[in-house]
Amino acid sequence: MSEGVSKTHEKARKFQAIKGVRDIQPPETELWNRVEQTAREVFGTYGYGEIRLPVFEQTELFARSIGADTDVVSKEMYSFQDRDETGVSLRPEATASVCRAYIEHGMQTLPQPVKLYYTGPMFRRERPQKGRYRQFYQIGAEVLGGSDAPAVDAEVIEMLMVFFAKVGLDGATLYVNSIGCKDCRAKYVELLRAELRIVQGRLGADSQRRIETNPLRVLDSKLESEQSIIEKLPRIAEHLCLECAKNYADVKRELALRKIAYQENWRLVRGLDYYMRTTFEITAPGLGSQNAVCGGGRYDGLVELLGGPPTKGIGFAIGEDRLILSLQESGQGKAERGLDVFIAWMGEAAYATAVRAARTLRNAGVSVELPPAAQKFGKALGQADKLGARFALILGEDEVASGQWTVKTLADGTQKKMSQQELLAVLGRR
Ligand code: AMP
Repeated sequence: MSEGVSKTHEKARKFQAIKGVRDIQPPETELWNRVEQTAREVFGTYGYGEIRLPVFEQTELFARSIGADTDVVSKEMYSFQDRDETGVSLRPEATASVCRAYIEHGMQTLPQPVKLYYTGPMFRRERPQKGRYRQFYQIGAEVLGGSDAPAVDAEVIEMLMVFFAKVGLDGATLYVNSIGCKDCRAKYVELLRAELRIVQGRLGADSQRRIETNPLRVLDSKLESEQSIIEKLPRIAEHLCLECAKNYADVKRELALRKIAYQENWRLVRGLDYYMRTTFEITAPGLGSQNAVCGGGRYDGLVELLGGPPTKGIGFAIGEDRLILSLQESGQGKAERGLDVFIAWMGEAAYATAVRAARTLRNAGVSVELPPAAQKFGKALGQADKLGARFALILGEDEVASGQWTVKTLADGTQKKMSQQELLAVLGRR
């Protein structure tokens, strides 16, 4: 049997989205757009401009910036050889790309600092669960160049909290920490490693491995059996050098000045290698164990590490999927905008009027559904109801002849005659 024949007999195969990725559909997309629009507005008021970045980059960019020993790079990237043998990866985050762009376009010659934000999908091959996907979306911002004054850190955090408040997120908690600089952190990491070796036998496999590869990450552990052990480990706040300790105190003073409530969390170390000094995380309710909606921090050495001039840097990434989930859980995620007008028409003459009315109303920003074929009024009104329309515009021979349209308010079933002008005025007032 030839392939062609067997194919015609085979039932058409149904496709499904790949595990860990999903479609985001209307009406939910409306909430996504509102969140993104709010970010644009708020970030704009703080002087940030949007950068649109490629979705894939050379694998080496991520390996060098995020760190080859991190889970993200060693286990979670979608990497492949391009046809010209270049190793490329789907971006697992965007800070590296922003720094690459800063260097590539010589942005250090612009007035400093350069403030940029981005939105878009990121890709990590993690175990899918609620609030954790393999394609997920981040809204992030970076401040590159200029000063590393504590006020810069505090203003970034202030902007974030303003954004979360504007978007309607209730119960967000801000956690802050300082993880020191190259010098004091390196000493602390060695101390931590030594202490961890002593308790090694009581730790899980992941933490045991991290003692050698990335001891700070042990502090991130959520494993119940490790909690009492971790609580007794030395804390970085007690091992910061003088400048880092002063810097951390100043950042907290700047937050207090801005009346930003925060909690200190000495175990907040962030998963990626490039952070230093200020780190922060924001959690939101309704998300179970994946409750971090935003992570960020200072990364002064990163631009240099990627071949650029010494450059200060600080930024954050908001997990948009989780933010949306939390908004929905708290009942804030209702789509606000439904259908305004459904046009129920009958007859040739009414159809011509309906087409013109639909265009005029849409032009005025009113959303309109115009059925493409004639229907009995009863059926049309049923459909208007199903679509959740606020008004049905009933156009028959009489209405067209008189120019007085019948407008039915679907919520209470009342009907009124009005002209197109009056209808526009009614809708405009809403
Ligand atoms: P990170 O880039 O790891 O600092 O993450 C910043 C934020 O992105 C986190 O706080 C999460 O809200 C979000 N995020 C990270 N990984 C995922 C994922 N796999 N699925 C959904 N959101 C994620």
